[in-house]
Amino acid sequence: MTTTPAVPPAPVAVCSFIPDYVLRNVAERGGDDDRRAALQALATSGTMRSLRVQAEARRSVLPRSAMPEITTALAPPTKERLIRDAENTANLRGPIIRTEAGPASADETAEAAFERLGATWDFYFQVFARNSIDKAGMPIEGVVHYRRGYDNALWNGTQMIFGDGSGRLFTGLAHSLTVCAHEVSHGVVQYDGPLVYQGQSGALNESMADVLGVLVEQWSLDQPVGQADWLVGREILAPGVTGKALRSLAEPGTAYDDDVLGRDPQPGHMDGYVETDEDNGGVHINSGIPNRAFTLVAQRLGGRAWEDAGRIWYASLGHERLLPTATFRQFARITRYVASTLFGAGSRQVSAVEEAWDGVGVQL
Ligand SMILES: [Zn+2]
Repeated sequence: MTTTPAVPPAPVAVCSFIPDYVLRNVAERGGDDDRRAALQALATSGTMRSLRVQAEARRSVLPRSAMPEITTALAPPTKERLIRDAENTANLRGPIIRTEAGPASADETAEAAFERLGATWDFYFQVFARNSIDKAGMPIEGVVHYRRGYDNALWNGTQMIFGDGSGRLFTGLAHSLTVCAHEVSHGVVQYDGPLVYQGQSGALNESMADVLGVLVEQWSLDQPVGQADWLVGREILAPGVTGKALRSLAEPGTAYDDDVLGRDPQPGHMDGYVETDEDNGGVHINSGIPNRAFTLVAQRLGGRAWEDAGRIWYASLGHERLLPTATFRQFARITRYVASTLFGAGSRQVSAVEEAWDGVGVQL
């Protein structure tokens, strides 16, 4: 007789793209309009968080065995996208303004989101043979024009939600492929990990979304590692903001340094690990450490980052040994194990993984 393992607690997360600590800086330092926008965004992420808790609580009733695993037999791979218009309100069930069958929408933002969510679906299917977020053909649903001038993008467990940005701090979130792919990848992490959105496992959750987000962009450009800039959210900083993106995977801590937004707080090494109660224990901050580890592996191996390095990271995310509460060290050990399984114990891929974690101060 076998005993049924306990179902791990489902992660509770609202994965908003702009972290609360950035919005808090704006609320403290910005002009009146910026302060208002930042406070509204902060209040909304609080509301979303409680909605997400309810959704996760419902989902956690399902035993894991009830979730689809072998998917090709369940559903043929078909890309299915739909875009809703929140019409500058908080309504997430607004009119559908774009579907897979078309026609194209006159709304430029809807088309931008549609195209980028499609590129993300293509990446997962063509690179990892994954049939959508849940591996079972789940439609990818985007909501555009969420609220008015809303400075964020979110994954709420079932939908990608895009604000238009205030235009003073952030702009055009749906026009950024790395933002769209980051949010979809939170869905992938939710189904594969799942990694609890707190502390180191939360930072791994954020890091996976960043890594997979930039891989989608590099893949869609067929970009070799040597040409990659490793930036997430390059397009979303409004003119006048001092910075190049919201995060830099290769050089954490260098993405922006602005009077209103503050300074990019990400460390790229365990020496700079930030202990904090904010930001779910620094999930958007300490993610810089595994982010940089990934870029070191990719740079060491050369070629295309989604091939060997991406394969190792993606297989580690879905690995049965990955605990929902994994630490950096536990995850690092899984990447080494996966690399040796895929490429052989003495392979250059294993050496690259070992050197990368050593380079960011994570002991294997
Ligand atoms: Zn995120």
